[in-house]
Amino acid sequence: MNFEPVIGLEVHAQLLTHSKMFCGCSADYAGAAPNTHVCPVCLGMPGSLPVINKTAVEYTILTALAFHCEIPEFAKFDRKNYHYPDLMKGYQISQYDLPLSRNGYILINDAGQQKNIRIRRVHLEEDTAKLFHVDGTSLIDVNRSGVPLMEIVSEPDMHSVEEARLYSLKLRQILRYLGVSSGDMEKGAMRFEANISLRPQGTTQLSATRVEIKNLNSLRAMMHATEYEIKRQSRILQAGGIVEQETMGWDEARGVTYTQRSKEEAHDYRYFPEPDLPRLEISRVWVSALRALLPELPDDKRERLVRDYGLSAYDADVITAEKQVADYYDRAVEAGKERGVDPKAIANWVTGELFRLMNDSSAEITQVKIAPAQIPALVALINKGTITTTIAKQVFEEMFRTGRDPEAVVKEKGLAVISDTGALAAIADRVIGENPKPVKDYLAGKEATLKFLVGQMMKATKGQANPTLAAELLTQKLLALKD
Ligand code: ADP
Ligand code: MG
Ligand code: ZN
Repeated sequence: MNFEPVIGLEVHAQLLTHSKMFCGCSADYAGAAPNTHVCPVCLGMPGSLPVINKTAVEYTILTALAFHCEIPEFAKFDRKNYHYPDLMKGYQISQYDLPLSRNGYILINDAGQQKNIRIRRVHLEEDTAKLFHVDGTSLIDVNRSGVPLMEIVSEPDMHSVEEARLYSLKLRQILRYLGVSSGDMEKGAMRFEANISLRPQGTTQLSATRVEIKNLNSLRAMMHATEYEIKRQSRILQAGGIVEQETMGWDEARGVTYTQRSKEEAHDYRYFPEPDLPRLEISRVWVSALRALLPELPDDKRERLVRDYGLSAYDADVITAEKQVADYYDRAVEAGKERGVDPKAIANWVTGELFRLMNDSSAEITQVKIAPAQIPALVALINKGTITTTIAKQVFEEMFRTGRDPEAVVKEKGLAVISDTGALAAIADRVIGENPKPVKDYLAGKEATLKFLVGQMMKATKGQANPTLAAELLTQKLLALKD
């Protein structure tokens, strides 16, 4: 029998707020000495009281709106009780039955196939402390404890590792567009839990048992673990066995999942309303105000670039992958309008030369010295015939290095096209004199050699000869030789 994988993802994303979720400690703990971003609240000391971080709530609502979720009138925080040394209070403040939002979706594009992956809920909780196990000792760093953590729970709508990958990438892209999370997996700002079950191909019922894999700290780990788990369950079912409901871990080094515990139930957590925090009232005015802050999101942006500028789907994808790049491109196009520069030409420079140079120097778009308006300025120089495309690449490299205007670079380096007939005629004579064989071939009727001779003129002028004029002069002189 053939089985179809059913996958639901829980994604945790740290929010880019200045302070932590329930105290005034700085949430920016990367690189800080252990246990320096702490206070009685995030250390879980008895008697300390939490205060809700309003920005974290707003970031979560903003995200939920971007995922087309419903925002209820009321939300509440709850205590989730469990015992593990990374939990300072013995419970985590999370949200149980009244989360900040529900019922949204993320659109994915799987090789041209559009598909909505439904979002069950987006809620807000606090991150835990970090444990280090060194030489038989366990060390704890409480800096991370209390950092705002948004949890995005999908419906079990994905049916392949590829769909899980596309969903995760799209989700991350949207968070980065919103600026609510860095999505930086190397820094642990985005973590995954994957829920996996199998069902007979062609059926629609969900399997009653599923396996949850925790602590997947990268996209790669999520994909490997999911792949592995699909194979493992498949083998069990093929052999007529039953897949046990359990919570598993992922051993990155060995590339295997392993049993952590049989799946806990909600009642094991003894959820109850957080008595130290008020219920959250979410007014419609507040929601409208937040909705007005939503930037143009990747799907809309991509569609607009294809529709209004005639970009290929591929180029539009590449340019909209990061918001900063898309914004840069938009500004370049805007600046090019008055010069009549084609947005497609600008896209070619951005995805071609600019990305190549950024890649070579590991630069981010925010570090690029070329101002957006300088790209259409360069294209305009080509369009006017002031420089050739070959020279333009040279000019572009100089612009990338120094941030100077293309006009200034062309002028200073004397890179403008040579259209001086006298100067080019002399070079044409020289090229003819130095290439007797091609000249002979040309005169014998092999006209294609003209291209070679033009090439020699370009070489002699380091690419600066006006190519049309060069070809004209050569033809005149060669025809004269014929007589
Ligand atoms: P819990 O609250 O115990 O973690 P939920 O029912 O809220 O469990 O589901 C958590 C995740 O498990 C969700 O992402 C959901 O999509 C996924 N899920 C639920 N049922 C299945 C299933 N049969 N197969 C795969 N994933 C599932
Ligand atoms: Mg779970
Ligand atoms: Zn604190």
